[in-house]
Amino acid sequence: MLIVMKSDATEAQVAAVLRVVEELGFKGHPMPGATRTAIGITGNQGSVDPSHFENLPGVADAIRVSKPYKLITLDIRPEKTIVRVGDATIGGEELAIIAGPCAVESHAQAFAVAEAVRRSGARFFRGGAYKPRTSPYAFQGLGEEGLKILGDVREAFGLKIVTEALDEAGVDLVERYGDMIQLGARNMQNFSLLRRAGRSRLPILLKRGLSATLDEWLLAAEYIMSEGNYQIVLCERGIRTFAQHTRNTLDLAAIPAVRRISHLPVIVDPSHGTGKQSLIGAVSRAAIAVGADGLLVEVHHEPDKALSDGMQSILPEEFGELVEEVRQIAAVLGREVN
Ligand code: PEP
Ligand code: MN
Repeated sequence: MLIVMKSDATEAQVAAVLRVVEELGFKGHPMPGATRTAIGITGNQGSVDPSHFENLPGVADAIRVSKPYKLITLDIRPEKTIVRVGDATIGGEELAIIAGPCAVESHAQAFAVAEAVRRSGARFFRGGAYKPRTSPYAFQGLGEEGLKILGDVREAFGLKIVTEALDEAGVDLVERYGDMIQLGARNMQNFSLLRRAGRSRLPILLKRGLSATLDEWLLAAEYIMSEGNYQIVLCERGIRTFAQHTRNTLDLAAIPAVRRISHLPVIVDPSHGTGKQSLIGAVSRAAIAVGADGLLVEVHHEPDKALSDGMQSILPEEFGELVEEVRQIAAVLGREVN
């Protein structure tokens, strides 16, 4: 059920509708928009009778929702969501460039890369302290020590910290040191983790699962939103196909496809999307041209020595050039790089 309030509805009228929703035993999600507030209802098993709401003051319409998702859709919020990460934003006119090494390996490594990220004008530093690795014997990340290094990067460079939580306890830790929580491809349908992220005060970067359909990805975002966290950025990072020339097949059509359904910002990860240094530039330019709200790029000052994903990490100089190219494309689209 979606309740659309009249454009001149008062806050008290919205509150009154929310009270009725609660009395029925459901949860109401008010979404203020440019022209009107809409209220999504979750927690109901069957359909909700619209007559509970139709005659309440300030209500324009009570609409039954037939789609599987309720809160991520343009029906509830026709304007794009702008996700706030401290004083930086994702989803507005400015493109968000999120960059850093796959894994935080040491203080010196993180600082060398962060310096280059800062110099390029990007505002977000991403590095993993907890890494979801295919092999249990591969480098798993520095853990809390890595988070502390990220905290130092934040302080030294003023960059916003994006880092992955692998489990619910990890969310508690990232909340202490970071500015945005990444949920990785392999965890896209870890429902208890999604619900925990939904109760976090931090914005969430939700990567698409390796074999997830668009609907499954959006429903994962819906899990987070249904718990009350509406600050979500989707990240297309490639899916598994039969192709052998790239690590994954980057689905750039997903960007405009999501845009037709959801108000949430979408960024593109060309690093996992291709797995190859040599393809990052071209694919990044295409991602911005197709409407992505930003990029997530792996950068390493010594890719040959990287403890994870060196083959898809670009050098700081290459990253600087990439940001300049993105700036030019952004200008044509009437956007800027933040
Ligand atoms: C990563 O961002 O380094 C990572 C492991 O990504 P994904 O979850 O998309 O594989
Ligand atoms: Mn990686």
